[in-house]
Amino acid sequence: MEKNEIFETEIVDMTEDGEGIGKVDGFTVFIKDTVIGDHVEAKLIKSKKTYGYGRLVKVLSPSAFRVEPTCPVAAPCGGCQLQAMSYESQLKFKESRVRGHLERIGRFTDIPMEPIIGMEGEPLRYRNKAQFPVGKSKDGQIITGFYAGRTHSIIPVEDCLLGMPVNRQVTKIVTEFMEKYHIEPYNEETHRGLVRHILVRCGFHTGQVMVCLVINGTKLPRHEELVKCLSEAVPGLVSVSLNVNREKTNAILGRELINLYGHGYLEDMIGDVRFRISPLSFFQVNPVQTEKLYGKALEFAGLSGGEIVWDLYCGIGTISLFLAKKAKQVYGVEIIPAAIENAKENARLNHMDNAEFFVGKAEEVLPEKYAQSGGTMAADVIVVDPPRKGCDEALLDTMVKMAPKRIVYVSCNSATLARDLRFLCDRGYELMRVQACDMFPMSVHTETVVLLGNQKADSYVERSLDMKD
Ligand code: SAH
Repeated sequence: MEKNEIFETEIVDMTEDGEGIGKVDGFTVFIKDTVIGDHVEAKLIKSKKTYGYGRLVKVLSPSAFRVEPTCPVAAPCGGCQLQAMSYESQLKFKESRVRGHLERIGRFTDIPMEPIIGMEGEPLRYRNKAQFPVGKSKDGQIITGFYAGRTHSIIPVEDCLLGMPVNRQVTKIVTEFMEKYHIEPYNEETHRGLVRHILVRCGFHTGQVMVCLVINGTKLPRHEELVKCLSEAVPGLVSVSLNVNREKTNAILGRELINLYGHGYLEDMIGDVRFRISPLSFFQVNPVQTEKLYGKALEFAGLSGGEIVWDLYCGIGTISLFLAKKAKQVYGVEIIPAAIENAKENARLNHMDNAEFFVGKAEEVLPEKYAQSGGTMAADVIVVDPPRKGCDEALLDTMVKMAPKRIVYVSCNSATLARDLRFLCDRGYELMRVQACDMFPMSVHTETVVLLGNQKADSYVERSLDMKD
C-alpha cells in the first residue's frame, strides 16, 4: 500500500496501546480511535513492508461495542485507550488478550482460566493516585493534565474521570500558586524550569490525602504558603512533600524526598490490614479491585497456618501482610528502600511479628540467601508480583531449586507472565488456575493472578484438585 492511500477496513483486533488493527490484503494497519468491530475509512500515513499506520477518516458502520466516551478529552488524552468500548467488551478484550498471550507466548493449551473479575458499578473514579505533568499552554498559561498518546505534549485535563475529585482542587491550588509567584514549570526540551509533576494520593478508606511536587531542584520558593493553602482547602491532607528529580529522564520520581508537612506518609486499609505509604512506594491504584485481587492471591496460596512463604517484589508488604495472617512465616524482598521501611512499619502497626523484609533485587537476594543456606532454604509457597518486564531468569531458577509446592504469580503484563510461566512449567510446574482481574478500566492494562502447582509434590496436586470442586 502507498502512503496517503484511502482505504476501507474492518477492525479485527487491538494493540497493547489500544490502537485498532485492520487488514487490507494481508497488510496490517494500526488505526487509532477505532474499536474492534468498526468498519472504517482510513488514510495511510506511514507505510512499512508488511504493516503501516492509518488515520481514521470516517467510521462507516460502528461496532456494536462502541459507546460515547464519558470524558470530553478521551480521544486526545493518552491516559485511557478504551473509553469508546462498552465496559463489557473491554472485559472480553482483556480476558482474550491474557488467553492469547498464554497460548501464543506460553504455548499452553487447555488453560484453566476463570472469568475475569470486572468492577461492579460504574468503572470510573477508581484511581487513588494521579500524577499530573505540569507545563505551559501556547499562550503561556500554566497547565496540568496528561500526555497525549505516544508524545509528551500535555493535554489539559481539569477533572480526570478516573481520579478522585480532590485532584482538581489540588492542581488548581498548585497552578495558582505557581502563577502568583512566577514559578516556572519544567521544560523537557531545555531542561529548565522547576515543577515537573504533581502527585496526589488518597486513602480510599481513611480519606487521607498526600500531595508531592516533583521538582527539578531542591527548593520550592514560598513553600510555606503553598502548604497553608493546601491545608486550609483540602480536607484530610496529611502530607505535603517535594521529590527531587534533576535528571533528563522519563521516570517521574527521583530518589530524594523533602518533607514539608506531616509525617511523610499516608495511611490506608486493605481488608483489615493498615498500611503506611510513602510517596516513593508502589501501592495498587484501584483499591476496590485490589481487595479482590489479593483475596484471590490468598486463596491460591492455600495457607493453613504452618507455611513458610516468600513474597518477592513485595512493595510496602501488602501481599506479605495479607498472607502473614494465615502463614507461619513470611519473607518479603523489594528493591526500593523507602518501601521496605514502610513494610517493616506496617508489620509493627498490625502487630505481625512473623514477617521479615529485605531490601534488594529479588534476583540477587533470593539466590544469595539460598546459596548461603547451602541449598537447604525451602519455601511452601512463593509469591511473585514483578513490574512489567517480569522475573529475571536467575530468580526463576532459584525458585525451581527451592521447589515450593505452590507458586502464585501476580502480573501486570500477561506477555512476560506467559514467558515466565513457560519457563517454570518446563521445569516441573503445572498451570492450575488463571484469574484475570480488571484493575484499570478504560485503559488497556490487566492484572492476572496465576496458581502453579509442583507436579512432583503429589499430595499437593490431590489437594488442589479437591479445592477446585
Ligand atoms: N506486591 C506489591 C508491589 C508490586 S509492584 C503490591 O502489590 O503492592 C512491583 C514492585 O517490585 C515495586 O514495588 C517495585 O519497586 C519492585 N521491584 C522492581 N524491580 C525489582 C527487583 N528487581 N527486585 C525486587 N523488587 C523490585
